[in-house]
Amino acid sequence: MTRALEGRGAVITGGGRGIGQAVARALAADGAAVLVAARTAAEVERVALELHAAGAAAFALACDVTQEAGVSELAEEARRRLGHVDVLVYSAGAAASAPLERVTLEAWNDTLAVNATGAFLCARALVPDMAVRGWGRLVHVASIAGLEGARYISHYCAAKHAVVGLTRALAVEYQGTGVTVNAVCPGYVDTALVTRAIENVMARTGRSRPEAEAAILATTGQVRLIRPEEVAAEVARLCRPEAAGITGQAVALMSGAPAP
Ligand code: NAD
Repeated sequence: MTRALEGRGAVITGGGRGIGQAVARALAADGAAVLVAARTAAEVERVALELHAAGAAAFALACDVTQEAGVSELAEEARRRLGHVDVLVYSAGAAASAPLERVTLEAWNDTLAVNATGAFLCARALVPDMAVRGWGRLVHVASIAGLEGARYISHYCAAKHAVVGLTRALAVEYQGTGVTVNAVCPGYVDTALVTRAIENVMARTGRSRPEAEAAILATTGQVRLIRPEEVAAEVARLCRPEAAGITGQAVALMSGAPAP
């Protein structure tokens, strides 16, 4: 435990479960006061309670990051609870898969909204104040699908490329202000999102769970699912003071190696 973020306020979107929950734990362990935000009230409240019980200053807010009003409320609540927001980790997201001809306009718009537009809204609401204060960290949880193409996820891939583009643009825009902007781009991570993808393959192909998981891993060349804590460790590294020189990076996380 470094306590490197003592005195810092951190907002984690999508913090109710999965990667966001692991990030909230990691940043709280580093001493940050955290506001955990996601759509499902019961999940964010559970995470905040757990962190609070472990001695952290932790707060929960149920909000929809695709709505401008919801993000304004998030920014207001974050400033009220944390005093100031120094770290924003955008981990809200959703994935769906379908061949191009079956991607509806609704699915396209929903996927872009949660994975890309919400990131823009949250950055716009919170990052300018970080620059005024002269210190800040923005980390987007993108995906390997933000760096390369893959079959049957055209909408997800487009959305994740958008958030990587946003990351690179904001890194340049905020260069020299003390605010760094980076993205982490994992392959498949062991969360509810991937469980749904595995179950989707099982339903469509009649494969067993291990076969479906192996088929999914084969698309990225992974030997196993990445653990959410491995992604969180990289996010936490990028948030620490010693990462001040790292900005505009899209860090790929792929598990070509056995679990650490
Ligand atoms: P998850 O489904 O476990 O968690 C997603 C979180 O986002 C939940 O807390 C959910 O409430 C929140 N969320 C969804 N829509 C929201 C909205 N409109 N407003 C507010 N919150 C919303 O998924 P995860 O695997 O933890 O994914 C987290 C991020 O990591 C996503 O952006 C995902 O695309 C990305 N990612 C996941 C994987 C993976 O394999 N699991 C791989 C690469 C990238």
